[in-house]
Amino acid sequence: MITVGPLPPEKLAYALARYSRSPDSIRASIEWVRTHDSAKFLDSFYFQYGHASIADLGHLALCFEGISELAAVEIEDEPLWDGQARSSRYQDFSKSGFVTPPEFDAAQAALYRGAGESLLAAYNQVHARVLEWLTRVLPKPEGMKTEAYQRNLAARAFDVARYLLFLGIPTGAGQVTSIRTLEKQIRRLRASAFGEVRALGEEAAQACAAPAQCSLEASAEPVAPTLAKYVDADPYPGAARQRLGEWAAANLPPYQATETPPLVDVLQPANTLADIASTLLYSVTDRPFRALYKLACNWSKAVCMEVIGAALESRSRRDELLREFRGGLYAFDMVMDIGAYRDLHRHRRCQQYRQEFTGKLGYDTPPAMFEAGAGDLYAAAIEQALSAWKQLPQPAAQYVLPFAARSRFLFKMDFAEIEYISRLRSGVKGHFSYRQVAWEMKQKFAAIEPQLAQLIDATPPWVEDPLVR
Ligand SMILES: Cc1cc2nc3c(=O)[nH]c(=O)nc-3n(C[C@H](O)[C@H](O)[C@H](O)COP(=O)(O)OP(=O)(O)OC[C@H]3O[C@@H](n4cnc5c(N)ncnc54)[C@H](O)[C@@H]3O)c2cc1C
Repeated sequence: MITVGPLPPEKLAYALARYSRSPDSIRASIEWVRTHDSAKFLDSFYFQYGHASIADLGHLALCFEGISELAAVEIEDEPLWDGQARSSRYQDFSKSGFVTPPEFDAAQAALYRGAGESLLAAYNQVHARVLEWLTRVLPKPEGMKTEAYQRNLAARAFDVARYLLFLGIPTGAGQVTSIRTLEKQIRRLRASAFGEVRALGEEAAQACAAPAQCSLEASAEPVAPTLAKYVDADPYPGAARQRLGEWAAANLPPYQATETPPLVDVLQPANTLADIASTLLYSVTDRPFRALYKLACNWSKAVCMEVIGAALESRSRRDELLREFRGGLYAFDMVMDIGAYRDLHRHRRCQQYRQEFTGKLGYDTPPAMFEAGAGDLYAAAIEQALSAWKQLPQPAAQYVLPFAARSRFLFKMDFAEIEYISRLRSGVKGHFSYRQVAWEMKQKFAAIEPQLAQLIDATPPWVEDPLVR
């Protein structure tokens, strides 16, 4: 066994790729890398001939600081992403302020800032009131250290107040990805509909062409110079979604929601063609997946192929199929608050799709808000934000949406991931909004797979221990 010391990502990729294609020891490959130009190798093998797996072998760490929660969603929306985002519990928003999207003119920015400031003022007030209420109803157990008790209650109060945070508040994310994932990510960010996200894509590309800004040892070597040359904006997914939106607008029958949507709906699509067509239409409409799938099952194969054709029209030979073509045995369509989604979005062994974040599906209120006597001040701040959302131009209006606002998300996964998410996310250490979702996932799944559902050891939401972290 031979360990290999830290190497710049492109040199490591070069060394391991050469190793796989020669009879020599890795020691010889490392020596080879010392004396040869990794840029030439990556240029020809990875970028020109498309030996993509070579770029899996070099990894690099990147941190995004002071970005909005909305930008963090876009950054993390990468199935092969390893990283951590900052927890809002440890941030002082009175000092950090929030991100104002570059798209807004002066009047729009003032409207946005007014709503944002009200949300943050309510966040601080709600936190104080909930903490005071929790201290009253949950006295410190004997034997628990005062510090731990206070920390647990403060964390719980932040969990309640979190519903008032919004997509414009700042956060940070640190990631470790392969060159291949980073290339895809930067190209996707540069094609984003949001100015902030496009700028982050530009900055990430420039950073790859320069030496690391932060490391244990100073080095003048650029981090990933070859990668930096090949990360132009990826126009395909955006063009395909625009075409699908046009198809939906021209061909789908009118739809009016008749009842409050369930938190979780699950189905097991047996018709693959209809499944792909309805998944393609899901993120460009505001319809439930069940309604779209039902429509698609009643269409002829030719109509389903028309939808698929719309998605493929602008695809070049180098573009991968959209993620809508990937599957999962079970499709969970969920109308949950944005805060819960921010947490569940982090699961990678599933295929995720989302509709635009919206203010149309109402918002959640945790019961503790009323119990702590903060219901009115909460509702006033949320209503002000939803009213601003209606007046602001899309898509940047989404920045003002509070975490309490419900939106629609589709997760497709196999049984192992259902078991994992439902078990992990229903546990008492979790946030109560996603605990409810995780519990519902098991209940709804039991209706279609009762035997398998019995194997899921999910914790019911009524089993609570606010003093456990
Ligand atoms: C109580 C709690 C608090 C949390 N706090 C934070 C926080 O403050 N900040 C934050 O950023 N996140 C936080 N998270 C999210 C957490 O870091 C994970 O991102 C999230 O739980 C997704 O789970 P997972 O990565 O285990 O698995 P999934 O992505 O769902 O994958 C399922 C399984 O597949 C395997 N797998 C998937 N990807 C990989 C991989 N790349 N390498 C190896 N194996 C893999 C693993 O076996 C994994 O368990 C928190 C989660 C919980 C439950």
